[in-house]
Amino acid sequence: QPKVDVRSGRMVGAEALLRWKHPELGQVSPAEFIPVAESSGMILPIGEWVLRTATRQLQEWMQAGYGLTMAVNLSLVQFRQADLVQRIGAILDEADLPAHYLELELTEGVAMTDPEGAIAIMDKLHQRGILLSIDDFGTGYSSLSYLKRFKVYKVKIDQTFVRDITTDPDDEAITATVITMAHSLGLDVIAEGVETPEQLDYLREQKCDEVQGNLISPPLDPER
Ligand code: C2E
Ligand code: CA
Ligand code: CA
Repeated sequence: QPKVDVRSGRMVGAEALLRWKHPELGQVSPAEFIPVAESSGMILPIGEWVLRTATRQLQEWMQAGYGLTMAVNLSLVQFRQADLVQRIGAILDEADLPAHYLELELTEGVAMTDPEGAIAIMDKLHQRGILLSIDDFGTGYSSLSYLKRFKVYKVKIDQTFVRDITTDPDDEAITATVITMAHSLGLDVIAEGVETPEQLDYLREQKCDEVQGNLISPPLDPER
């Protein structure tokens, strides 16, 4: 799914969203199969395949002249792999891609389960030049004192807040506050699930940096 810079209106990146077409079940939602893959351990080979496929795709786009970043969702199980940094490093080398074109989206749960351990892993990924962001921000449990120490450069406001920003004063306040807080900490902000021009107008007014959502484009096959 494309990510767009609010000020310029240009596509600046993409988020890799996994799709599974089952021969009998048809399209199975990642919301259904990712949890199963996580509990069975299958998420490790699947996650590695996603990283490899996404970086290869990005390399193709770069060669075609498009300068974009590629964001990949990372599960807790993947994040806790002992050799994560080496594995991702090898995938980047294989795709001949500079590390700062890859962004890993970590949920609050991934970051806040053993935050000290998470800081150590984030430091290593950061040293390798890989970008990190906090996904679904505001839906889980986040310690602000840890947020300060995480090597993230961006937070993503969850679509549950974005959905009602033009109708629910509470969601409007939460969104505006998250943007202000993130900017004060020197972080960029992206909003997901943007579906209406009114939502985009509000986010622009609040100086949100980037948006993604069906208003701009739903998730697409890479060719499209
Ligand atoms: P997420 O990371 O929060 O991704 C955003 C979800 O919102 C995606 O659902 C996306 O298709 C959907 N979306 C995008 N624009 C809009 C919009 O305007 N309105 C609405 N209502 N929804 C929108 P999707 O693709 O079904 O993925 C669901 C979740 O599955 C993701 O949530 C992510 O947590 C997980 N997921 C997807 N791909 C991967 C993957 O490769 N690895 C891992 N670990 N998790 C993945
Ligand atoms: Ca995500
Ligand atoms: Ca979300």
